[in-house]
Amino acid sequence: MEKKPFERPLIKRLNAGMPSKFGMHTHIEALTEIDGLKVEDLVAEHGSPLYVLSERILRKTYRDAYNVFSTRYPRVQFAWSYKTNYLDAVCNVFHQEGAWAEVVSGFEYEKAVRNGVPGSRIIFNGPDKQEEDLKLAIQNGSLIHIDHFDELYLLLELAEKGTGKPKVAIRINMDTGIYPQWDRFGFNYENGEAWEALNRILLSEKMELVGLHTHIGTYILTADAYRIAASKLAILATGIERKYGKVIRYIDIGGGFASKNTLKGAYIPGTDAAPSFEEYADAVSSALIKSDIKPENLPLLVLETGRALVDDAGFLLGTVLANKRLADGRRATIADIGVNLLFTSFWYQHEVLPAQEVSQHTEDTTLYGPLCMNIDVIRDAIDFPLLKKGDHIVIKRIGAYNMTQWLQFITYRPRVVMIDESGKVHVIREREDLEHLIRLERIPAHLKSDDARKK
Ligand SMILES: *Cc1c(COP(=O)(O)O)cnc(C)c1O
Repeated sequence: MEKKPFERPLIKRLNAGMPSKFGMHTHIEALTEIDGLKVEDLVAEHGSPLYVLSERILRKTYRDAYNVFSTRYPRVQFAWSYKTNYLDAVCNVFHQEGAWAEVVSGFEYEKAVRNGVPGSRIIFNGPDKQEEDLKLAIQNGSLIHIDHFDELYLLLELAEKGTGKPKVAIRINMDTGIYPQWDRFGFNYENGEAWEALNRILLSEKMELVGLHTHIGTYILTADAYRIAASKLAILATGIERKYGKVIRYIDIGGGFASKNTLKGAYIPGTDAAPSFEEYADAVSSALIKSDIKPENLPLLVLETGRALVDDAGFLLGTVLANKRLADGRRATIADIGVNLLFTSFWYQHEVLPAQEVSQHTEDTTLYGPLCMNIDVIRDAIDFPLLKKGDHIVIKRIGAYNMTQWLQFITYRPRVVMIDESGKVHVIREREDLEHLIRLERIPAHLKSDDARKK
C-alpha cells in the first residue's frame, strides 16, 4: 500500500460558502475518470488545461429531453443553439440526433450551412442580420425570426426586389412572471406590438408566416413561465387563424431551461433547484393541448434548448500551479484555469473536484486562475482538500457558453477533446499557437525594419 503523505492536524471552523438548510456538504469525492478514462492520462496526452466533452453524455441528455417532450406532445423538433457551443463536433452530434440549427449571426449561419444543415432547417434569430445574410437565408428557404420593424421592412423590400418569398416567424417578448423581463428582443405581446407586426406580414402577402417564436430568458427556474409563454403564443395562433384563416405551422418556445449548475449566492444547489425536463415539458405541452388551437392544426413544437443539453457533457481539466497563504491566513490555491477559459465562473459557483484521491482534510480555500488580474478567481471560499503543485482538478458542467465566449488572453486557448461512445479520444479543436494568433496581424512597413528598432 502506498504511504499517505503527512498533513498537519488543524482545528477548523466551517465558514467557507453558505450553508443551506441541509447543512454544509463537506465530503469531497475525487473525480479521477471521465467516461472510464483517467484524468491524469488525458492531461498527460493533451496538455493542461484541457476541455473534455463526453459524446455519451451529449447524446444521452439529448435523447432524454427528446423522449420527455415527444411523449407529451405529438410533434417535437429541437434546434441546436449554436452560440451555446458551436464547435463543429458538438453541433454534428446534435444534428445526427436530429436537431435543426438555431443561429443568431451571419457567421453562425455559415457554420450551420458548412455543417450540412439544409437551409430549411436553419432558424435565423437575433437582432443583427445583415442584408447579405437575409438574402442568403431567403434563397435557402431558412426560417427567419424577425426581431424588429426595421428588419420587417428590409425583408419586405428584399421580397419586392424578387429575392424570393421569405419564410418568417416573429419573435415575441412577453410577461411570463420572470423579471427583469427580456423585452429588448422581438415584439411585445401585451402592448399589441406583436399583433401589429403580424398584421403587416399577413396583409403584405410578400412573406410566408410560418411560426411564432419566443425566448423568455435563460436559466429559468420556474417551469410555469413556459406554460404562460406557450399559452400566449397559442392565443396569437388562434387569433391569426380566426382573422386570416392562416394556420401557424410551428410554435417555437426558445431555450432557457436551467442546467444543474448553481448560481452564485443561490441557497439551494442547482442539482436540486433546476426543474427537470419533465416539468418543463408538462408545462408547455399542456398549455398547447389545452389551448383553442384545433387538434388537426396543432403546430410543431420547436425547442431551442442550449445550456440544459450541453452543460453536463463538458469538463475542464487543470493543474495546480502553487499554494500560498493570503494576508489573513487563508489558503489560496493557484491553478492553470483562468476566468478567460471559464466565462461562466462570473455567475456560477462551479463544482470543482480534485482528480486524485484526497483525504477528507479540507480547508477554506480560494481557487485562483493564472492570469495577472485580480478578478481571476475561479471559486472564492470553498471548503477544499489540500492539493499540491502538479495535482489535477476537474471543473464540472462547463459545456455551455465557455467554448464560445472564451477569450484568448495572455496565453493560448487549450485543446478541446471529445471522448466518443467507445472511449476513444478525438481532438476536436487544437491548442492555439503563435502562427494561428499572428496570422491576422499586419505590421506597417515603417515598423518592420531594423531601423525602426534602432530609433
Ligand atoms: C441563447 C439562445 C438560446 C439558448 O438559450 P439557453 O439558455 O442556452 O437554453 C435559444 N434561443 C435563442 C434565441 C437564444 O438567443
